[in-house]
Amino acid sequence: MKVWIADLTYTQQVISNDIFPAAQSGILEYTKQNVDFEIETEVFKFPPEFDAAFQRDKPDIVGFSNYIWNCNLSLKYAEAIKRKFPEIPIIMGGPNFPIEVSEQKQFLSENKFIDFYVFKEGELGWLNLIKALYETNFDKNATLKRIDEFSNTVALDEDCKIKISNNMNRLTDVSQLPSPYLNGALDKFFDSKLLPIIQTNRGCPFTCTFCTEGQSYWTKVRKKTRDMVQNEIEYITKKIVELPDDKRRYDFYIADSNFGMFLEDIDTCMHLAKMQTEYDYPKYVNVTTGKNKRERVLEAARLVKGAIKITGSVQSLDEEVLEAIKRKNISADKLLSIAKEAQSFDSNVMSEVILGLPTDTREKHFDTLKKLVDSSFNFIVMYQLMMLPGTEMNNKDAWDEFKFDTRHRVLPRCFGYYDFLGEEIVSSELEEIAVANSTLSFQDYLDCRKMNFIISIFYNDGIFEEIIKLIENNNLSAFEWLKTIYENDTVKEFNDLVEQFLDETNDELWESKEDLYEFATKKENVEKYIDGEYGNNLMLKYKALSITQYFDAICEIAMSSFDSFSRQNKIYNSTISDVVKEIIKFKHYKISNIFDLKCKQYEDIFEYDISRIKISDIKDESFDLNEIKFKEPIPYVFLHSPKQSTMIDNYLNLFGDNINSLAKIVSRVHLKQFFREAIKKV
Ligand code: SF4
Repeated sequence: MKVWIADLTYTQQVISNDIFPAAQSGILEYTKQNVDFEIETEVFKFPPEFDAAFQRDKPDIVGFSNYIWNCNLSLKYAEAIKRKFPEIPIIMGGPNFPIEVSEQKQFLSENKFIDFYVFKEGELGWLNLIKALYETNFDKNATLKRIDEFSNTVALDEDCKIKISNNMNRLTDVSQLPSPYLNGALDKFFDSKLLPIIQTNRGCPFTCTFCTEGQSYWTKVRKKTRDMVQNEIEYITKKIVELPDDKRRYDFYIADSNFGMFLEDIDTCMHLAKMQTEYDYPKYVNVTTGKNKRERVLEAARLVKGAIKITGSVQSLDEEVLEAIKRKNISADKLLSIAKEAQSFDSNVMSEVILGLPTDTREKHFDTLKKLVDSSFNFIVMYQLMMLPGTEMNNKDAWDEFKFDTRHRVLPRCFGYYDFLGEEIVSSELEEIAVANSTLSFQDYLDCRKMNFIISIFYNDGIFEEIIKLIENNNLSAFEWLKTIYENDTVKEFNDLVEQFLDETNDELWESKEDLYEFATKKENVEKYIDGEYGNNLMLKYKALSITQYFDAICEIAMSSFDSFSRQNKIYNSTISDVVKEIIKFKHYKISNIFDLKCKQYEDIFEYDISRIKISDIKDESFDLNEIKFKEPIPYVFLHSPKQSTMIDNYLNLFGDNINSLAKIVSRVHLKQFFREAIKKV
């Protein structure tokens, strides 16, 4: 018996979801382990390879994953298979599925080629279904008669009546799950295109209403064994270091929702640190860190030498908003204090904020951003509220209560066209976001997006961290400096950039989902999405523009805004002004044209030791800036080290060098690692 699962991703602009299909492969390994008949399994990620597989072979059962980033693509492929091979049962699974039974029925009625849907945890549902299909010789109706024996499964019968299995189970012991890595099932994906991901535990004790994991079903956290986790890390590391240098990527993903909160996570980090020492991998560990157990989270990050960006994700710091989204159980104070402590070992400390949550306002959003900036988080990710299927936030009661006004837009990078089974599939993915609610007007929303844009460009990635430090040392709010930039319209080129950003923010929103879907699935329009004419992740695109074509204008407005800010706050004097001028010059040489490896090096003379500004010995507010003045001006040279050049080159080869490719790179790396090194020429 042959079972295939496709966890498809779009590939034409860039690979939109470049993560190993470990969850799908894990489901198949679990099935294999628990059936007593021969079963051959295969997992696919890339549309052309899935098509090639059908040219050479035919499976008995096909499965598809369903996430916000591949739902329509999966549906189109499933429909094409059912048209050509009606006898092949099709199973779909994944979190992008409604919780209301009436909406589940509507989904299945609109997509009748999906024979079964497995929702919530996948292993038990898929195992039962595959066994029953085998035993009934792939007869859907006969299998459906046994649906009560299954877990987590829903389907329509011949009369379009919805059938849901009685059990909504979770595995009580995930330590028994086989590893798709250790079984070799994922070996074919070690070719640098995708990034490996593991999961050390499942579940989340919190109850956020905008998140699919906020449901009580996921409350209990179930853990894998230490041995399994360490063996997977070691297996992955050895596979990665076998790759030639130009094919090696340095990121590693952990899919846990609250990493660092559990004792076992310390063991995981110790093992990661061992790999870093022995193999120089992984350099970046992408994971969401825990919202409580601050000391343990900090210890975990400390062990991997800053490779983990600590996430103090607040979403909002307003009490009323937190209550409305049932996130009250997360301690906002503890989250804020994490940032300051993490500075001591130079970890990246990231927070996340969502604009447009129930009861949110412009003032509340600005206030949350101010608290985060002034708490020393060095990166703030600013999202808009997505109305996700399968969340409490997206049910009728919430819509009635909070009066969401929503728009639709195409998900960045999620569009494409492919040949499959002799037909052409044209597809794109849409998302629905809240742009207003009963307390937030559309104009407020745009104002907040402009502030988000300023933070992304001037604050994130430590672009001007020395200026931030100077402001903090004067007991002033760095957020207020960013607000001065927000209000400053003296640099025309920068104004043009802001205006372009806001115009594109407005233009990408559609009122009608149907009209947008029709537009975004016409091949000629999809080509424009791929070319970057439409549908970019605007925050990332403009971040990439700001550090390439517009960095001169960014430096100019940073200087003029600091000038006004320092005068308004009575800290202006010629020394601080000279120091800030030198900081900006210093950062210009480190960052300007950062991806251009042809631009070999810059040289200039400095009067102040800029590198000393952000280190702790000048935290003392009585510190005199003259102490960092050189006895005589020192020449510096700014250049990418050979290691940096190799890394940049690898990313450019993988993603390309147009502005959308650079935006994707910006989203993937710690940008600071690419800043040119500043070397004193003595
Ligand atoms: S803490 Fe994170 S994973 Fe858990 S429910 Fe909230 S948003 Fe979801």
